[in-house]
Amino acid sequence: MKAIAKSRPEPGVEIIDVPEPVLRPGTVKVRVAHGSVCGTDLHIYNWDAWSAGRMHPPTVIGHEFCGTVVEVGEGVTTHKVGDFVSSESHIVDPNDPDYLRGDGHIAQSTRLLGVDVDGGFAPYAVIPAMNARHTPSVVPKSVASMQDALGNAVHTVMDGPVEGQTILITGMGPIGLFSVAICKCLGAKKVYATEVSPYRIKLAEQLGADVILNPAKEDVATELRKLEPRGVDGTLEMAGKKASLDLAIENTRPGGRVGLLGLYPDVLDGVDFNRLIFKGLKVHGIIGRKMWETWDQMTWLLAEKGLDVTPVVTHEMPYTDVIEAMETLKRGEAGKIVLDF
Ligand code: ZN
Repeated sequence: MKAIAKSRPEPGVEIIDVPEPVLRPGTVKVRVAHGSVCGTDLHIYNWDAWSAGRMHPPTVIGHEFCGTVVEVGEGVTTHKVGDFVSSESHIVDPNDPDYLRGDGHIAQSTRLLGVDVDGGFAPYAVIPAMNARHTPSVVPKSVASMQDALGNAVHTVMDGPVEGQTILITGMGPIGLFSVAICKCLGAKKVYATEVSPYRIKLAEQLGADVILNPAKEDVATELRKLEPRGVDGTLEMAGKKASLDLAIENTRPGGRVGLLGLYPDVLDGVDFNRLIFKGLKVHGIIGRKMWETWDQMTWLLAEKGLDVTPVVTHEMPYTDVIEAMETLKRGEAGKIVLDF
């Protein structure tokens, strides 16, 4: 079969011929319908220091995908042929004490689909049955393919109170955009967003952000102080920029919560931790999705609460256009790009 792979330790990805993956006990074989390109895939495409240090090509990439179960491995009782599923990218040992404690998303045994093991940007993928999450048919297929990413947003937003709260979300990448929609869906009182890109500002408007502040054009901390003199109830930092962390510390009310999802390119100097302490802020580093609470919450939001994140899907293309997809993402001219397999 044809698959999108990192075939050599250098920038780029290629469509290559690989054998169809073989079913193993405890796994399911999925006929992949759609895959969604993630920032992680772009890191792999660019072959940055992180991917060069971690991957061992050749590897089929792709960790966000959906499709139909076509074969069920020995010992699997949770799935049957014909089930529609979506991928969870963290593969963990089910006996790992971290997983058993409820910390599967940060388990030390975690291996990443499409990074450490072959992923799903191919017509077929074989994944552990527990990583194939049942998805209700009411969920649009494009959205079904990106639940791994959507789950990051669900996890961050639902880590604290939302209903009736004022929430600041810094950075309108796909996960920031998802978070806007989730906050609105859950009844946030007001959602403030920050973003510099006109393209993404437009998307944030579509997703329902009440106020969008542009750090390239205005002093966001001052403007926010005018709008929320006592500070916002919660800040979700998704930009991975020191200025955004400073903003979170400065403009979150005393006792409020700060969720940190955006990764910082370097170790940060000059963060005012004393201010954070004196304000009694609840700061929480967040990664991945809780296994499996986040998936249950996400299914509830999509199937019963009417969460609509389809505006984030700005492009759909055949998987053979993967290079165009990567270059479009690189230029920042996309929300989520969904590939058709
Ligand atoms: Zn991803």
